This record gives sequence, C-alpha cells and structure tokens, in this order.
Amino acid sequence: MSKLVAFAAIQGGYNIVSKAEGRYKKALETYGGAQKLEFPNTAYYLPIIYSLTGMKVTDLDSAKKPLEFARKLLPPHVKNDCNLPYLGPLLDAGMAALFAEEIREALRYVEDPDFYQPEVEDPDIENGKIWLGAADDAIMRKRGVEFVDGTAPGFAAIVGAAPDSATAKKMAEEYQLKTIYVFMAANQNGTTFTEQLIEENVQIGWNTRLVPFGPDISAAVFALGFANRAGMAFGGVQPGDYKKMLQYQKDRVFAFVNALGDVGAAWAANAAGCVNWGFPTIADTDIPEILPTGVCTYEHVVANVPHDEIPSRSIEVRGLKVTITEIDIPLAYGPAFEGERVRKDDLFLEMGGGKSKCTELCKMAEMDKIEDGKVEVIGPDVADVKKGDRLPLGIYVQVAGRQMQPDFEPILERQIHHLINYAQGIMHIGQRDIAWIRVGDQAIDKGFSLKDIGVILHAKFHQDFGSILDKVQVTLYTKSEDVDNLTKRARAEYGTRDDRVEKMTDESVETYYSCTLCQSFAPSHVCMISPERTGLCGAYNWMDCKASFEINPTGPNQPVEKGECLDPKLGQWQGVNDFVYKASRQTVDHYNFYSMLIDPMTTCGCCECIAAVLPTCNGVMTVHRDYTGQTPSGMKFTTLAGVMGGGQSSPGFVGHSKYNITQGKFIVGDGALLRMVWMPKSLKEEIKARLIKRGEELGVPDLVDRMADETVGLTEEEILPFLQEKDHPALKMDPIVG
Ligand code: SF4
Ligand code: ZN
Repeated sequence: MSKLVAFAAIQGGYNIVSKAEGRYKKALETYGGAQKLEFPNTAYYLPIIYSLTGMKVTDLDSAKKPLEFARKLLPPHVKNDCNLPYLGPLLDAGMAALFAEEIREALRYVEDPDFYQPEVEDPDIENGKIWLGAADDAIMRKRGVEFVDGTAPGFAAIVGAAPDSATAKKMAEEYQLKTIYVFMAANQNGTTFTEQLIEENVQIGWNTRLVPFGPDISAAVFALGFANRAGMAFGGVQPGDYKKMLQYQKDRVFAFVNALGDVGAAWAANAAGCVNWGFPTIADTDIPEILPTGVCTYEHVVANVPHDEIPSRSIEVRGLKVTITEIDIPLAYGPAFEGERVRKDDLFLEMGGGKSKCTELCKMAEMDKIEDGKVEVIGPDVADVKKGDRLPLGIYVQVAGRQMQPDFEPILERQIHHLINYAQGIMHIGQRDIAWIRVGDQAIDKGFSLKDIGVILHAKFHQDFGSILDKVQVTLYTKSEDVDNLTKRARAEYGTRDDRVEKMTDESVETYYSCTLCQSFAPSHVCMISPERTGLCGAYNWMDCKASFEINPTGPNQPVEKGECLDPKLGQWQGVNDFVYKASRQTVDHYNFYSMLIDPMTTCGCCECIAAVLPTCNGVMTVHRDYTGQTPSGMKFTTLAGVMGGGQSSPGFVGHSKYNITQGKFIVGDGALLRMVWMPKSLKEEIKARLIKRGEELGVPDLVDRMADETVGLTEEEILPFLQEKDHPALKMDPIVG
C-alpha cells in the first residue's frame, strides 16, 4: 500500500482537526460555552462521537473533550525516509478527521441555522433549500431499519460530482434499481452530484433514496453517523463500544464510498476514516490504491474505475448480494421506487382518487378458461389522452392454478398496490374500489402504456406466488361502463369476503393474525387482525390472513396466540403485546383493540377511515378516504392521515376499515358505535343497512338518523344542537375526556 495515500490522509487529518479547532474557538468566543451544540431531534447526540467514545456533546463546552481526543488521535507525520506499516496510523488520522468534522457540522447548525432542513424527507428544490443535513431520529428509525432487515442492501456514499449530469443520473438510477441508497456529500470545484441530479429532473430525497446531505466533504459524517445510530437503535450496540460498533457496521451495513473527481488530502482522510467502518472507496481517478484486504471485506481503495462500471464494481468490492428481477416494461422497476410520488406538475394521467373510479379485483378461474400472459386494454390507453386527463380504470386479474383457492383471491389482489408502485414514475394508493393511480410525464416519455400494468402483475404474480398459480391473465378496462360493471361485481365480492367473518367473534378463536405488509411505509406499524377487527385498509380480514399464512408461512401474516387477556373491555392480550413489541422493533409495547381513547392500535397511511374524538359533543366522528371535505375534527382526511398515519398509536384517533364500523367490537371500550355522532353522508349511505342492524343490536334502531353529517355541519358547535334535538345517545354517556 502506498505511502502517498498515507501521507495525504494524515495531512488531511491534521488540516481538518486544525480547522475545526479554529471554528470551535471562534464559536466559543461568540456564543459562550453554554451554547447548545447538537444535531436536530436526536437522542444520540453527535452520533459518531457518542457511539464510538460514549461522550455526549450537548453544548460548546462538552465539545472540548472530543476535539482534544481527535487531536491526540492524530499520528506522527509520515517521514520521507522511513517505511512504516501505515494502516494503523492512517485509520486513526481518518477517525480524528471524522470527529472534528462532526463538530464542524454541528457548529454549522449554530452559525447558519437555515442551511440544513431537518425533519423533512424531501428537499425544497424550488426554494433552493436542497441540503438535508443530519437525519432526525424519526427518519433514522424509518429508514435505518431497512439496512438491518435487508430491504435496502446498503448505501453508496457519493462524494464529489460526475463529469456531467447525464452520467450522474445514470449512476443514481443504477443504484436505485438495486435498491441501494445514495448518500451525497462534498463538491468537485463547486459542482455537486446532487445539483447534477436536479438538473436532470431526478427526484431526490429520502423517498427516492437519493439523499442530499451537504455540499462539503464534512457532510460525509451524516452518512456515517446515520449508520452508527442504526447500529445503536437496531443492533443493540452500546454507546462507547467502538469495537462492537465497527464490527457491526462491517458485518451488517453494506456501504461504500464513490469518490468522483480529484481526491485531495481532506477526501483521503475521510476515505481512511471510512475504512474503520469497513467501507471501501471506489474512485474514478487515478489515486494510489490500497488493495490488501483485512479491515474491509475486500479491497480498501480501488482507483480509476470507469463511471459505467462504478456501481457494479462497488457492489463487488463491498461483497454485496443484490437480486434484481427484470420485468419487460420500459420503466425501471424495484422497491426503491415504491415511495416515489407523482406530483401535480409532473402528472400526465390520473385514474381514481375520487375524481374517477378505479377498482381492483382478483378472481380465480378455471385452468382452461384463461390464457397465461394475456394482457388486454379495453378502451383508451395513454396514446388516446392528453396531459392532465383522467380515465376510469378497472384492473381485473384472473389467476388459475392447481394449488389456487378462492380464499387466496384477496391476498393476491392486495399485492397490486406495491407491485404497481415499484414502477418508476407510477404512483399507487389505496385498494379495492378506492384505488388511485398517477402516471408521471417521465413514465410517458419512456414509453409507458397501461398494458405495462398487466405485464407487471403477470410477471410478479408468477415470481412471488408461483407455488400456487400457473396462469395469470389481466384485463384493464378504461371505459366508464365497463369500470362501473366491474365495480358492481367487485363490491359484491368484497361483501362476500367480509361476510365470511360476519358470524365469528374474537372470543371464538385463540389465534389472531398479524399484518406487517405496510411496514415499508410505516416501519413500526403492526396490524393485528381478529375476527371482529379487520385490517384498517379494509383489504384483509381474519380469514384472508389465515389463507395468506397458508400460502406463505414466513410472510407478513403470522398467527399470534392471543394469550392471557389483560383487559377484556379495551381488548388487550399478553401474547399480542409480545408480538407487537417484537414486530414493531421495540417501538410499540402494547395496544388496545377496542379503544381509540386509550392506547389504540397503530395506524398506517392506507386506512379506509379515520375516527377522531369530538370532545364538545362527547362523541366521536369518522371520515373515509373518498370524502375530501372538512370535518368537525378541524381536519380533512388527508391531514388526519398525515398526522397519525406513520405507524404510531395516537390516543384520540384510530384508523379502521369501513366494515369495522359495524362490527361488534368497534370501540366498545369507549361506548361502542353509540359514540358515533358524525360521518360523511356518502359513508352513511354506503353502509346504511349494516348501520341499522348494528343500531338495533345496541337498542337504538334509528342511530344512523341521529348521526350528523356534512349537511348538518362541519364544526362541533354546528352539529351539537342537531344531536341535542335528536337526543343522540352519546350526550348521555360518561364524559369522553376525563
Ligand atoms: Fe396489512 Fe394493515 Fe397494511 Fe392492510 S393496513 S395491508 S392489514 S398492515
Ligand atoms: Zn398501510
């Protein structure tokens, strides 16, 4: 290995530490030692320093010790006439640089508080606020877990800039395709990889896994700090246990550095620092290589790699296993694109979402009645519409197979959501007859047509459910009349599915089922599905989960022995709690099935309805996704979903399915359906028959007529007189807020 590299890195370490000391001194003079010094919203202090040394930096005074520590770590300068084994001192120099840089970046939060944008996942590009800085703990929890559970195989820390923006885009997309996160830092003569992507109209941010940390090399600490926080949060590594932390990073977090452009002393010091983590550097310039292996899985520094080979070479050097599945559509396809949104300005075509109908139905067919791989679009396709148009859409999937059963239909149908979302430039929300698809301009430019939806479903159903099906045929309807017919038929099917649990009670079974399908959006969210509490998306009931477990015993629906009943009124069981604690990765340790007031179940963004407490009316309201207006809670559905749909338990609110409203256990812990004082008129109409039946069971047969809706009022004050006039039962119940 090269003396030159060691020289540069050690020199870089000295420079970086000295600079940080200077800035620190100045800050101390300006702000005083009590000035707070921290990254925003984190319990892990300055995470590299905290995780490796146990030192907690909270203010300028407490930064003194780690800065002195960094100075002491600096090895003697490399002398020209002596040949040392360089790796040890080199690594120390790198570590010293990273400690100093972490303090340097924390100082920036004090000196220039608007420079970074904490708490947001996507930068505000229009207003030029492109740098995100340190991820806060909420983002770290949501994203970090992906590195630990394998959803994301790793991250590429890209420093510098590509020779041109087109190359940057190509590299970024290749990483996205492989579901690898790209963390961006540093500039090359003022040009950054991030700005190159913006120039190419590539969506950046946590949601597309292209994360713009900062324009300076010191922003590399955000990537390493993120990795170390994940190690503490998910790997159980104790702060200060540097050996275990670095080992954990090497074994579990598959990351590497791509150095694009001239590598100066500062970059060399950072690259050396990264070797401590086992993260190698792959560079596009002719820098001296460090090839002997030891600390990293394979080589430490590999130079002069052509740009189109950098991603594959990096993956190979880091020893990463990636599986990609080719689907014959003109769009990039994979989980990295799942969280991507199609915004109004980029919108070419929209289907569903309240303005037109979009319905999904999966049905089993006889083997000889369908043709495998046949995809038909009946009605206009993208070539027949112009930008900004809407179409109704009916997605009708027929499957056949020797192992197929009608019970499996809803499980296959529910896959449509994420399978369509995986296509770059296509967004899918919802399920059943409230699906919503947006197609972006970019997808159209690349040649997307509706037929591709069928191609995706055919390929992925075979791939993921090959054990139960042999044939998949997809029909896409885009004429209103056909979509209406399909919707009518589908609603009857949904009804039949729901009815299968109609006569079952929670007491009649010992086993409930979990659903963790939504953890890609809401990592701590765990649906627990009992006969009397269907999944909040409305797409999974107890029977469906049972079937899903049969198809895929290691899948997202696991049987859970409910165990000892801890609270029969609120609906809480020991076995369920234990499971939820584990499945939420220690975030949620208990919840109640039958209460929205006290520790309710967690909620994710795809719930059909959201209920909220109305204190003045001594009752609750609920609103479904199709109703876009204001509600007496002061929030519209979208706001409610945004506030509490991230996978947490939010007392006073709960997500639930439409069907669940009239199930026997619906909020019985809070006074049951008799608490319901408001719901949109269209929802009342939709479930009217069942509302009447449930009202009868509760001794108030005309309950539905005593509930207010938007025609009565949109605030608690407006609806209260109506409730009084109708003698609504909620008004005579115990106070809802104690
Ligand atoms: Fe599963 Fe719940 Fe998500 Fe529905 S909302 S898919 S039941 S986790
Ligand atoms: Zn969900």
